[in-house]
Amino acid sequence: MLICRKCGVVTEMENETIRREVAAQASRQGFMLERQIMEGRGLCAHCRDDDEARDTGQ
Ligand SMILES: [Zn+2]
Repeated sequence: MLICRKCGVVTEMENETIRREVAAQASRQGFMLERQIMEGRGLCAHCRDDDEARDTGQ
């Protein structure tokens, strides 16, 4: 999921490919994977626009 650090909005993202790849790699290393947490933090489109607007204003 993607979490905006400014407004806190949470967006699900399509990560089935990544999930499978992490599981496959864990398995190759003999690691028993129990849980995968994938998180991206940053600014959502809305907050990013706000930031850019403020930057150009200064
Ligand atoms: Zn935001």
